[in-house]
Amino acid sequence: MMIDQDTEVYGVIGNPVRHSLSPAMHNAAFGEKAINAIYLAFEIKDLKDCIRGIRALGIRGLSVTIPFKSDIIPFLDEVDDLAMRIGAVNTVVNNSGHLKGYNTDALGALRALEEKTDISGKRVVIIGAGGAARAIGYILKERGLEIIIANRSIERGMDLCRSLDCEFIRLDKPADVHADILINTTPVGMSPQIDMSPVQENALKEGMVVMDIIYNPLKTRLLAMAEARGCLIINGLPMFIYQGAEQFRLWTGIEVPVAVMSEVVKRELNF
Ligand code: NAP
Repeated sequence: MMIDQDTEVYGVIGNPVRHSLSPAMHNAAFGEKAINAIYLAFEIKDLKDCIRGIRALGIRGLSVTIPFKSDIIPFLDEVDDLAMRIGAVNTVVNNSGHLKGYNTDALGALRALEEKTDISGKRVVIIGAGGAARAIGYILKERGLEIIIANRSIERGMDLCRSLDCEFIRLDKPADVHADILINTTPVGMSPQIDMSPVQENALKEGMVVMDIIYNPLKTRLLAMAEARGCLIINGLPMFIYQGAEQFRLWTGIEVPVAVMSEVVKRELNF
């Protein structure tokens, strides 16, 4: 694809952001659909200046990552209902200077779960209470699942439980509760700390669905333990691809073949 005077600019803002696989994934999608656009990584320090820059330069769309997903909300002109309820934005669409925020993590996680298992009426333990846990908790609550939050910080965990009207347990307690699905939303087990698991082996029961939203490595210690215990495992790649595909649809109005995005991300991960 030629970069010329008509090339539209998209990007991810975060800090740090150099490890992000989003540029590879979205540039592959633009190439596949022959869209004259480029997607870059912006490691930013000052969010206010960044937003002024986005408006001034007419950058058409953004992915938003750690630590700006909540902080960006007051700078936007409009925020989609689901993102507002979650309290986190991971996608911005710039429509002629009007910046609207969305959260596609929630839909990405839901799609990743639903393609592997029937979630209706299920009981789910979510490990973590950060931005990703909020997104997943809200969408699963909306779908009628019973939610239990397990988190290291009791205050943050209880805060999410109050918003979701659900039960809180300490991080060492998942083995004591019955759950059909367990989802890790903490970075525990992520490269380079690949020998760690957020829960003990006895929390993993045969037949359970265990999802880890970490995608590097693709099989975390948690997932390896879960597989050995006879659980159905789901890694973080489908959620990442589906949240990215939804971003692409919001920016361009075009459905992107997820296979293309998935291939390029797997290649980047040497999978
Ligand atoms: P966040 O808002 O910073 O929340 C992190 C959560 O993990 C908090 O609940 C924190 O507990 C907990 N935590 C962190 N370190 C821990 C440790 N050593 N032991 C126990 N708990 C720990 O981050 P986030 O935005 O939710 O993202 C979390 C992870 O999800 C990241 O690894 C991110 O890459 C991944 N993610 C993946 C996707 C995907 O598409 N696959 C999408 C979004 C995020 P405290 O409250 O006690 O601090």
